[in-house]
Amino acid sequence: METPHITEEYFCVNCDKFLRREDVYKTWDCPICKYLIHIRILTDEKDNACYRVLPQNLEVGDIVFTHRESDYHAILRVIDQENLIQLNLKNYGSLKVAKNRYVLKIDGGWYH
Ligand SMILES: [Zn+2]
Repeated sequence: METPHITEEYFCVNCDKFLRREDVYKTWDCPICKYLIHIRILTDEKDNACYRVLPQNLEVGDIVFTHRESDYHAILRVIDQENLIQLNLKNYGSLKVAKNRYVLKIDGGWYH
């Protein structure tokens, strides 16, 4: 189970509704409509709406957090390595993530 970021809130854009952590923490989608939910991650710079996705579902151009608080980078390449996904990140280098570890992907600003 992921440790919650201190600022996390959960919102389903499709249902236009806030959700409770205990309803979303297993798969990070909406228990009603199954859309991926927005997760609020507030950093020093920005108020972000993120998705929590498995690394094999990431694509080139996605922007992901490498460390919870502030550090995010664009994906240049996604390389499948059996149990791991290697992400080559702009201005960072490579990051290897187990296929069962969720990654925070920025969708945009938090306006809910
Ligand atoms: Zn929903």
